[in-house]
Amino acid sequence: MNECDDCGTMNRPSAAFCSGCGTDLGADAEFAAEEGFSVKWLVLGVLIMFGTNIGLGFLLGIVLAATGTKVSIVFTGLCGMVAFALGGYITGKQSPGKTILEPAVAALIAVVLSAILQGNANPLALVIGGALPFLAALGGAWLGERAQGTI
Ligand SMILES: [Zn+2]
Repeated sequence: MNECDDCGTMNRPSAAFCSGCGTDLGADAEFAAEEGFSVKWLVLGVLIMFGTNIGLGFLLGIVLAATGTKVSIVFTGLCGMVAFALGGYITGKQSPGKTILEPAVAALIAVVLSAILQGNANPLALVIGGALPFLAALGGAWLGERAQGTI
């Protein structure tokens, strides 16, 4: 809620003017919007994590095929960790306010997307293959928030 400084009326966080006395709440409303959940950064977070995961996996596949190394779950797992940590970091650093929630939800969506794409949608694989990238994203987001100075 957004309390009016002049009359104390509680207004919606997005309200531009007080519903009680009509005072311009512009600055406060803007602040509330910045502190709130950012759908833009949620979508960007998913794109960065999912895109980097697929991109890195693709590059890794080429390198491994060229060197004749067998693709191992360790490599793909590392790939996912790096991609999600990076996505979490960028989302945490760039989105305004305390935004650990956006990278967290973005990581969840990206984990499920990646699992479905890899034909790996059974719950156990999701938990094992998703928990580590998810934690990596949270770690990255935490670093990003620190870099931004909000924590
Ligand atoms: Zn008021």
